[in-house]
Amino acid sequence: MKEIIPAPPAIVRNDYESIRELFTKNVVPSYGRFELVLSHGVGSYVFDVAGKRYLDLGGGIAVNCLGNAHPAITEALVEQSKKLIHVSNLYFTEPQGRLAAELVKRIGRGKVFFCNSGAEANEGLFKLARKFGHDEGRFEILTATNSFHGRTLAGIAATGQDKVKKGFEPAVTGFRHIPFNDLEAVRNAISPATIAILIEGVQGEGGVTPATPEYLLSLRALCDEKKMLLLMDGVQCGHYRTGKFQSFQKILEGVPGGEKFLPDGISMAKSLGGGFPIGAFWVRAPYADLLSAGTHGTTYGGTPLACAVALKVLEVIEKENLAEQARKLGAWLKSEIERLAKTYPAVVKSARGMGFMLGIELAEKIPSFAASDKPAALQFVNRLHAAGVLAIPAGNQIVRLLPPLNLKPQEAGEGISKIEEIVKQLV
Ligand SMILES: *Cc1c(COP(=O)(O)O)cnc(C)c1O
Repeated sequence: MKEIIPAPPAIVRNDYESIRELFTKNVVPSYGRFELVLSHGVGSYVFDVAGKRYLDLGGGIAVNCLGNAHPAITEALVEQSKKLIHVSNLYFTEPQGRLAAELVKRIGRGKVFFCNSGAEANEGLFKLARKFGHDEGRFEILTATNSFHGRTLAGIAATGQDKVKKGFEPAVTGFRHIPFNDLEAVRNAISPATIAILIEGVQGEGGVTPATPEYLLSLRALCDEKKMLLLMDGVQCGHYRTGKFQSFQKILEGVPGGEKFLPDGISMAKSLGGGFPIGAFWVRAPYADLLSAGTHGTTYGGTPLACAVALKVLEVIEKENLAEQARKLGAWLKSEIERLAKTYPAVVKSARGMGFMLGIELAEKIPSFAASDKPAALQFVNRLHAAGVLAIPAGNQIVRLLPPLNLKPQEAGEGISKIEEIVKQLV
């Protein structure tokens, strides 16, 4: 394969220890970080400070949908920053209006609120639900076990995983968890106070688990029956990662009744800005004016700079047919992981997910991992790093692939052969 970029200049070589030291001394240690210091990237590749190249199949956790250093993003940033970077939401700007229209066009009739992150987008949905139920005294939101909805206080209350809640009690009230893909469980959990249900179309942090078509359609019917809002967290699984703009559009493709399905609210972030921070939530038309003037806001929400970049990202995805790329190449990657599971069942248990949101489920009790108490997914990812591939662990047993939507076929091939190398070492 053609080398796309020369080795980095000598000045950044062997900076690893000094940068580590800056973190140890000055950065709050809330992340378990890998022993990698990255300096730059191009396309699907990133480079560490020693000049080692990695194929990035993690995409900054489903964020860098156009890879690294995409010239269209650079140009959008430069051009917009010459005009306006930030404008208060006391005023109108064209990029925010145009981006809202593009999102509405891709989802359905409704309106959009802009913010800066996934957690903040979900906060908006929680406030929407509370406002909706306020006069009846309904406020409770049901969410799924193994879900992930962000790290704010309400976000960790909504998240169906104990590990994010520990140490931060008392929890924000008004959230209860129910098993995912289990309609009976929702039905039984509804109380007179319940106002909404929030699910991910494909659970990401929880291990790449898609909602079933039946679950989505039944939830819609149930929410209509009980006058509850159906909210979807599309922060990770949205933005064409599954092959369609929103994951439910992919999950319900060709399913009778699926073409009419719409949730009442959708949160977005991650790939929306292709790496530039932006979040948003869409609200279905009947509820689009619930959050009236003065009820919700954020200083940076929908700045011209963020919106210009997000508009450019959508334009490139469309022009280069990247949804189709994610769908086709994702299907190939999944079939290759399935082949690995067949060939090496002692190491790979199954392939999970769809499009470019994939999981390699590792077998329990891989003998070579027994010597360490680190989770299998972490040990596997560490070996991938040594082989020059980045991927993201989800839980103890699952390794996620969330590559850029413009990943090239030969890069996918390179990824699979390096993954297979590691798998073979473990047999
Ligand atoms: C990443 C993520 C969030 C949180 O987004 P932040 O931008 O980190 O606040 C929320 N929900 C899901 C499904 C996510 O994957």
